[in-house]
Amino acid sequence: MANPIRICIIGGGIIGASIGFYLSEAGCSNITIIERTNIACGASGRAGGFLAKNWRSGAEGKFSESSFLAHAELAQRLKDEFSTDVMYRRLTTFNITINENNDEVNTNKHTSDKQSLPNWITADVHEKEMLGDEDTTAQVHPGLLTNALVKIIESRGGRVIIGGANGFLFETITTHTEKDEHHQTSPVRAIKLLIEDQEPIEADIFILAMGPWTYQAAPWFRDAIVFKENISHQLDVIGGVKAHSIVLKNNQPTEPYAFFLAYQSHDGNVLDPEIYLRPNGDIYACGFSEEHTQNLPDSGNSVSINESNCERLRQIVVQVASTLKDSNVEIKQACYLPQSSDGSPLIGRLHGLNNVYIAAGHSCWGILNSLATGAQLTQLILKGEMSPFLKQCDPTRFYRRGGHR
Ligand SMILES: Cc1cc2nc3c(=O)[nH]c(=O)nc-3n(C[C@H](O)[C@H](O)[C@H](O)COP(=O)(O)OP(=O)(O)OC[C@H]3O[C@@H](n4cnc5c(N)ncnc54)[C@H](O)[C@@H]3O)c2cc1C
Repeated sequence: MANPIRICIIGGGIIGASIGFYLSEAGCSNITIIERTNIACGASGRAGGFLAKNWRSGAEGKFSESSFLAHAELAQRLKDEFSTDVMYRRLTTFNITINENNDEVNTNKHTSDKQSLPNWITADVHEKEMLGDEDTTAQVHPGLLTNALVKIIESRGGRVIIGGANGFLFETITTHTEKDEHHQTSPVRAIKLLIEDQEPIEADIFILAMGPWTYQAAPWFRDAIVFKENISHQLDVIGGVKAHSIVLKNNQPTEPYAFFLAYQSHDGNVLDPEIYLRPNGDIYACGFSEEHTQNLPDSGNSVSINESNCERLRQIVVQVASTLKDSNVEIKQACYLPQSSDGSPLIGRLHGLNNVYIAAGHSCWGILNSLATGAQLTQLILKGEMSPFLKQCDPTRFYRRGGHR
């Protein structure tokens, strides 16, 4: 049954798109996504899209497993119902240890220990470990998936507005109850989202899904006088970790493999790039993570690219598979993965406000965990239900009690 609730999601990455998708599955059609640049302009359009079923434990493990299974189901539905291919497939995943070569192209020195590696691996592999098989690891194209979800939201009555959100208008609810006094709910709610050079958007529920940029929303809460600074602390803990990636066009090999490398370089450093083969012949490689920062460019499209990092990634790929030496590096890019100060995402209602939610800080598992985030935040918003992992991700953990009441 249609739900008339007005939802406004700030951020058109995989997290915002997944939340919008699951809300639309639950009957909400009045969904607006506010995106500053373009859909999937940040990490959601530049990530590897690797998915692992059982690499985490406890409540997080259950959450990730449910998301892993949801990806398989959704990819099939996208094909069957929407004629959309998001390059989902199951993978075999290896961890391989190699040393930097003097020559870019190695002769094919296979050892007997490498039998289960594909025969186009030409690097001298010192150690290998199978990290996952086709039951436990998979991949999806994150940019295709994000855009597909947004298209479905639009086809069900939702809309995307390109614009930079920059504040809220709030109101005080005069009828708040005793429960509110214990911060279960709040007497303050947001009524309008302010957008640069555009009309404000009115909504019943607002969801901050701005990835690594979420810290930029902290000052928006200065007018929510009731719990003032406490609200901001929940946003201030998020920043970004920059990483580089390249995409080589080669058309082969296309077999379903992913490689996590321990790459011993000449200077003594061990690098840990990752290489994924995509079904369309793209070879994706990423690495070179930097320090956590809150100094991000406004647009996901204007993140500076370090050419030497990209060239280094290319050299490593060619050392792994020398047949790729003449492949064209079609994409060189950098982006920020969203990271909170304790490493776990923030998913839930912002403490101190009645109707503002957050879903950000998914670190290196945002593509994997996007679908469970969308499904479970929908349950929380519409039914008040919180899974054990959502309890762990409650932004309240960063709430600081102060004398601001
Ligand atoms: C190199 C790399 C490889 C990765 N590989 C994997 C992988 O293999 N598997 C995996 O599970 N995860 C992977 N990740 C992690 C994953 O990409 C992220 O966790 C995920 O994309 C985060 O999604 P998001 O929607 O939270 O953020 P983003 O993708 O950053 O989206 C946030 C959006 O908000 C918008 N925005 C920001 N501020 C505003 C504003 N004021 N108004 C309007 N819009 C705004 C931005 O423009 C952006 O589009 C990888 C990350 C990196 C960097």
